[in-house]
Parts: sequence; C-alpha cells; structure tokens
Amino acid sequence: MRRKLIAGNWKMNLGLNESGVLAKQILGKVKQNILKNADILICPPFISLSQVCGIIKGSGIKLGAQNLHYENDGAYTGEISATMLRSAGCEYVITGHSERRKYFNETNSVVNKKALQALNHDLKVIICVGETLQEREDEIFESIITEQVTMALKDIPSEKMNDVVIAYEPVWAIGTGLNASPKQVIEIHALIRNTAEGIFSKDIAENMIILYGGSVNKDNAKEILSAAGVDGALIGGASLKPDDFVFIAEQAAAVK
Ligand code: PEP
Repeated sequence: MRRKLIAGNWKMNLGLNESGVLAKQILGKVKQNILKNADILICPPFISLSQVCGIIKGSGIKLGAQNLHYENDGAYTGEISATMLRSAGCEYVITGHSERRKYFNETNSVVNKKALQALNHDLKVIICVGETLQEREDEIFESIITEQVTMALKDIPSEKMNDVVIAYEPVWAIGTGLNASPKQVIEIHALIRNTAEGIFSKDIAENMIILYGGSVNKDNAKEILSAAGVDGALIGGASLKPDDFVFIAEQAAAVK
C-alpha cells in the first residue's frame, strides 16, 4: 500500500527568519490525523535546513533539501554534499527539478549520479521528470519521459527502490497556473510505472511513489490527488502558503 506524500519545494524563497515562521505555521496547522494517512515533507533553502529541522523535530513532518552534489566532498565551491544534508537533518533530497535542468544544465546523467549519491548516503530521493511544452506539442513527450526515468534509475540497486520517489512535473505546468489534465497525469504516471517495471519488477513498480507537480493548489488538489496512480504532489508556489499547503495535505490524507 503506497502512502500519500505531499512535498513542499520552497525554492529560493524565504530567509532564515521567514523560513522559521513558515515552518511554525505549518506545524501549528498539521493535525495528527493527516499524518496517519499521508506524509508531509518540506524542502526549505539550505541555510534554513537545520533551523527548520529543530522546529519540526518529533512532529512527523519530514525535512528535505532541494539539491545536492554527487561527490562526497572537496573543491566544489558553493556546492553541498549528501553528508552535509544528513547532518542538517534531511531525510529527503530533490534532484532533476526542471529548473536545475534548465538553468544549471543538469543532464539525465548528472541526475542519475545525484540520485545514486543520495541513496548511498541513506537519503530518500525525489527524482523529477517531465516534458517541455515543445516536446508535448511535438508528441515526443513519452520517449523523453521514458528516457529521463530510465537514465535516472540506472544502476540503482533494487533494494534501494523503496527510497526512490518520482515526480512527474510537466515543465509547462510549473509556476504557470496551467495543469496537466487528470487524463494526461494518469497516462504519464502509468508510463513511469511501466518503465520502472521493465527495469526492476512489477512489485517494485507497484510500490513506487509517483507524485504530480505543476501548479497544484487548494482548488485543483482534490481532482489531481484522486487520479489513478497519483501518490501525492510536489508543490512549489502553494507550499509557501501554510493554509493552502496543509489543506492540500488534508485532501491527500482523505483520498481512499
Ligand atoms: C515545483 O517547483 O516543483 C512546482 C511544481 O512548482 P509550482 O507548484 O509552483 O508549479
């Protein structure tokens, strides 16, 4: 039985004080009955991780980072390692976000190295995949997503697959207010699950958590979260609004 996961990606927003305020607001609104049925994860900027860790400790809310480097340590100015993230209290890390692919030239092979590094350090990894508008219009999105998933999962040992989450995030839906339709979401989630089944096994694919991301908000969350094969959401903009974020988590927890 797959548990629902609602993950908030705060991106490059909020300083130390504001991060603490938002974490406390979320904590104050999350009721235990939500956490019985769904996991809630927040991914603040690096500088706020340890502070937010202290605030949510013992609450059941989980902490994640938005990126990591694939090397253990060394001369990589401005980068952050898996060990550092662990020491700041992270349980999860995101990799392959389309903003990192676009602005920082992260290729499928870099995403794979980062996923392997995270897993080697006992971090759970959320691997983002998704097509651009051009790729959808050109009707090559299925092969793009199959390739992204296949390359991201390369060399991951099957016993580590419990720690892998995939987020389907159509690039054209991120921060734009546009959504994939439930039909589009269902089709791509099935494609991702089938791809994982081809690499690993039916069992592993059936147990893999697949999130949807792209302009999820309090008004569309219920419909998206009820779609077949959707195990939760990766949320950007709405994760900065505590009422909306916790409301979305409530919707996830209520899905049968
Ligand atoms: C994201 O950044 O992963 C995302 C889905 O953003 P938004 O919810 O703002 O579209």
